[in-house]
Amino acid sequence: MQFSDVVGQEPLKNKLLSNLKSGKISHAQLFLGQSGYGGLPLALAYAQYVNCANPGETDSCGVCDSCQKMTSYEYPDLHFSFPVISKKPGSKPISLDYIAEWRKALKENPYMDYAQWMEIIEAENKQGNITAEECRDIIRKLSLKPMYDGYKILIVWLPEYLGKEGNILLKTLEEPSPNTLMILVSENEENILQTILSRTQIQRITSISNNDLEAALMHNQGNGKEKSGRVTHLADGNYNTALRLIDAEENNYTEDFITWMRACFRPDMAAVIKWGDAMATTGRESQKNFLLYGLGILRECLLQNQGLNVINHLLDSEKDFASRFSGFIGPENIEDFNEAFSTAHYHIERNANPKILFFNLSLSVNEFLQRYKKRN
Ligand SMILES: [Zn+2]
Repeated sequence: MQFSDVVGQEPLKNKLLSNLKSGKISHAQLFLGQSGYGGLPLALAYAQYVNCANPGETDSCGVCDSCQKMTSYEYPDLHFSFPVISKKPGSKPISLDYIAEWRKALKENPYMDYAQWMEIIEAENKQGNITAEECRDIIRKLSLKPMYDGYKILIVWLPEYLGKEGNILLKTLEEPSPNTLMILVSENEENILQTILSRTQIQRITSISNNDLEAALMHNQGNGKEKSGRVTHLADGNYNTALRLIDAEENNYTEDFITWMRACFRPDMAAVIKWGDAMATTGRESQKNFLLYGLGILRECLLQNQGLNVINHLLDSEKDFASRFSGFIGPENIEDFNEAFSTAHYHIERNANPKILFFNLSLSVNEFLQRYKKRN
């Protein structure tokens, strides 16, 4: 991965590069920000740059032997730690157990979040962890002689899943062997041990600017300007969210959403159940994307309701529905929708029964709509 593959984040890229050029390489860094802002892609581009045989001013060369091995994530001195589950009940997992799945996931979407990774390794309702065994494996790997001349690099993705086991790594973080770099990539500072935080240099990663996000959706994903603009407007500077919204559009969620809202509004219980059964047959990622998409439409309805839709971001197929439905979405109930959809999203990640979940959510939607109708 090169810096040019990372969406936006130019100021941070420049800062990292200028630190490198001035020789100020901190051997333990923490990249902190939402997954969709690009912490992991930045760590990968950084690792590739420091070990590139012919680095340019702003990026690795992309073609030297080191860059090629870095691109396939098979560079022998590049190590990864990330949350995993046991492959067999009772066994103590280490990240290496899932290295093939990990490399494939990085090639497909390095902006993925924890829940997507858990789905890839089929964790179902099990909690992923970076285990004590993994910590000991890290120490062993970092104590080996490097295979190449460059840096030995360890990327720890989501150190918040280390728990107290992180204490095993303190000495390594404090005094790593020469030419060793450790990059921790985290979403949540609060869940990292204070002892780890105090031993790392923190780089805060902020949301991607709308211009950069829109440009990436057009160039990387081959979307048109109108669609890219619409998705950017809803994605809050998060590339992963943008990819989900594009998936939602491509899967044609509009019709499903309209059918569902109409059934909830009446309410037509037979239609609600039929709709929920169909939704239950789609995968969990798809169900989550659908909820995200639905919330986006409801927010647009609120803007219309308040007369604030200066720029209309909706698809033609959504406009007619939104203009009529906006009569039932106001400041009084939008928070209820937000909370109910977010809670449903949370329970889908934790393997809730989708038929029951969508049925209950439908009842809530009916209540929010009816309450608004009575009051207004
Ligand atoms: Zn190179």
